[in-house]
Amino acid sequence: MPHYLPDTTLAQGAFESHDPTGAVVPPIHLATTFLRPPEGYSQTGWSYSRYGYPGLEQPEATLKALESAAECRLFSSGMSAMTAVIMALKHGSHCVFPIDMYHGMRTWLRQYAARQGMEITHVDMTDLDQVRAAVIPRKTAVLWAETPSNPHWYIYDIAALADIAHSAGARLVVDNTVATPVLAQPLSLGANIVVHSATKYLNGHSDVLAGAAVTAKVDDFWEQVCFNRDYHGGVLGQFQAALLMRGMRTLHLRVGRSCQSAATLAAECLRHPKVEKVYYPGLPSHPGHDLAKQQMRGGFGGMVSILVTGGSAAADRVTTRTRIWKPATSLGGVESLIERREAIETNSHVEPNLLRLSVGIEAVSDLIDDLWTALG
Ligand code: PLP
Repeated sequence: MPHYLPDTTLAQGAFESHDPTGAVVPPIHLATTFLRPPEGYSQTGWSYSRYGYPGLEQPEATLKALESAAECRLFSSGMSAMTAVIMALKHGSHCVFPIDMYHGMRTWLRQYAARQGMEITHVDMTDLDQVRAAVIPRKTAVLWAETPSNPHWYIYDIAALADIAHSAGARLVVDNTVATPVLAQPLSLGANIVVHSATKYLNGHSDVLAGAAVTAKVDDFWEQVCFNRDYHGGVLGQFQAALLMRGMRTLHLRVGRSCQSAATLAAECLRHPKVEKVYYPGLPSHPGHDLAKQQMRGGFGGMVSILVTGGSAAADRVTTRTRIWKPATSLGGVESLIERREAIETNSHVEPNLLRLSVGIEAVSDLIDDLWTALG
């Protein structure tokens, strides 16, 4: 497709109607199987929906364009995409992960590594010396960065990590869920593979579970990731693909609004007497602020975390008193969510009084009033 600016790519949704009805959005084909011509399938032909179906083309082409990728594959969840990447590694590989990252992936890794003979090292990824010390040349297969990272929104230096990974013969994989391709394009900074929980901002309406992986290059490793999706059955369903595409068309607007509101909220929280600390990369006090200014464009994301005075009980009370902020897990939807992270994370390293705020697209003055009332 022609190279448009991201807003145009998203609004158009990589779609040109060839439908005889002239429909401006593609139909949903529910077929799981497709007629087999006697001469066999052409290269682009569909055979069985576990290997792909027409409705994947549009969202995969859109995300591929946004991430400036060689290929994109959509999965049934973010975890399905991320585990497909790790399971593409050779037995006995070593991988380096950040300490601050999505806890579900950390939990799965621990189990998987113990059973499958994979070695994992978690480091403070803001400290590049720690990363260099952890990497074992020709044994480390993957450096994994989630940036901004859950739930402190630390910023990891993608270009520097790519250099470290490549000089050791490893790949850099970046979880770009929180930044979204609107704010950051890790492949252009040297990452090899980017993964997403498309359940979050890409869909944006808290009604689809989906994941994505995109690659800078089609190589044997990527072919193995695709094989894992097709043969483990991790492909995204037809309805979910259509809903995801509908959600993505407003990604740019939603992310822009969330970023603006998050920046306003974070600055206000700094002044609140019951807030001990604010984690937001848009604040000059955040340790990743300068790097975020270089690495992200158009905003610092829609996620803010705060430490509330009075410990975990006080933080829990806040989540029961908000009316607009809904006490629920997840992030990146149009509605704002609040959660005390330690309560839901396995093996958590998170402060007991940390509240994670996913800033939606409501009026920011209402969001602030609601939080202020709940803080008391
Ligand atoms: N990565 C990040 C940063 C996440 O926040 C999540 C989910 O919360 C995941 C990955 C996993 O995605 P999913 O829940 O779609 O499997």
